Amino acid sequence: MILGDIADGLTRVAESTRNTVSEAFFEPVIRIGVTGLSRAGKTVFITSLVANLIGRARMPALQAQGEGRLQMAYLQPQPDDTVPRFDYETHLAALTGPDPHWPDGTRTVSELRLSLRVLPSGLLGGLSGPRTIHLDIVDYPGEWLLDLSLLDKSYREWSEETLARARPREIAGPFLQAVEAADPSARLDEPEAKALAAAYAAYLTQAREAGLSDCTPGRFLLPGDLAGSPVLTFAPLTVADTPRRGSLWREFDRRFEAYKREVVKPFFREHFARIDRQVVLVDALGAIHAGPAALDDLRQAMGDILGAFRPGRNAFLSQLFLGKRVEKILFAATKADHLHHSQHPRLTAIMEALVADAKARADYAGAATEAMSIAALRATTEDEVAHEGRTLPMVRGLLKETGKPAAFYPGELPEDPSHLLTPARQGAERWLDADYAIMDFAPRPLTLKPGEGPPHIRLDRALQFLVGDRL
Ligand code: GDP
Repeated sequence: MILGDIADGLTRVAESTRNTVSEAFFEPVIRIGVTGLSRAGKTVFITSLVANLIGRARMPALQAQGEGRLQMAYLQPQPDDTVPRFDYETHLAALTGPDPHWPDGTRTVSELRLSLRVLPSGLLGGLSGPRTIHLDIVDYPGEWLLDLSLLDKSYREWSEETLARARPREIAGPFLQAVEAADPSARLDEPEAKALAAAYAAYLTQAREAGLSDCTPGRFLLPGDLAGSPVLTFAPLTVADTPRRGSLWREFDRRFEAYKREVVKPFFREHFARIDRQVVLVDALGAIHAGPAALDDLRQAMGDILGAFRPGRNAFLSQLFLGKRVEKILFAATKADHLHHSQHPRLTAIMEALVADAKARADYAGAATEAMSIAALRATTEDEVAHEGRTLPMVRGLLKETGKPAAFYPGELPEDPSHLLTPARQGAERWLDADYAIMDFAPRPLTLKPGEGPPHIRLDRALQFLVGDRL
């Protein structure tokens, strides 16, 4: 064990003692982590969740609300002074203003405190009066979570794996050429290092756009405030046999280790290890649309993500958690408003199969997990349209590009998830008997009544699973 790990452990003991004391006597705090890969829907989710807790008319499945015990929800200054605040007001204005549009997505970690006044259930409620419960919502890029896998790897192992995955991919062409041209044993030349890192980052960006999720290091995609720094100026290289001091290989190896030490570990220490409940948002429809390779990649990424929630697996994390652990994890397929509700059970079944697979592969026996299909902000209405002698369940919305109304049929998801997951795992190039479309809808103009949040699908059920037992 290294000294840093011991210190991490001590900080956590002090912190958990403090939390226990404050929870017993004062006001409990539940830290809800919200993650998912870029464009999974984190920003829209948090914005709509908060708006739907402040105005709760659309939240009947949240038990405390259904039972009339949730008296008030209000925003408060967050407890962590150095973490950026989640820009709720700007995002809400984007979604519900006179010219509704999607807000800018998550680029870095941010936080928001929402406090609830809740009457305890049962006899106690009448006797003790309302309690205050704080929900600290922490938004962070899922890409950063995948970096956990780097902690167990040397620069050599990571280079070999990354290059092996890149070689069959067409989009990796320019980057692979740059790697071939580089001499890992030659003296480091900073402009060359920068060019290699840039070529690698460009490849990762394209891989993400193609729907692939195995994109480490996560900060190459979302650098936060680290853009341009040496910890982000490296790339995988072909193995050098006897790399000398000062060589490209040795310096990249050193920067890779610095990245783990200075970037990955602090994130896990300062943010991740303090989370009580976690929601992982997944753009499953987007991956299905992108094709079998993207769906299989998502399947693998979910295993990696779940692995991060099983502290026993990783010595560094075990030290951080010290027996404490995330108690519940919700995997939610977002943007379910692209589907008519008759297809929601099929989307949920696909999510359940992905979670089951991830659990099996991560050898997972940790927190309670659940899979769900949700839409944080419902941009469509449903319709049924006669087409070639049958009735197609469609959705209608306004197109993001033109603002024009459009009806949309995304294709029929199979009843049995294995009809998608098996060909994906076997490396099929495209779906055999179907195409799955997606469409970019804009948020609909809304006229909200007092006490009403924006329209959504199952946001109340998601919250009930996450924190219902604590309200
Ligand atoms: P982030 O990168 O995870 O923060 O993702 P965002 O919250 O910015 O969402 C990315 C994009 O997904 C948005 O710009 C919307 O186009 C789309 N989106 C997110 N949530 C929903 C939803 O509930 N319904 C629909 N139709 N689209 C959504």
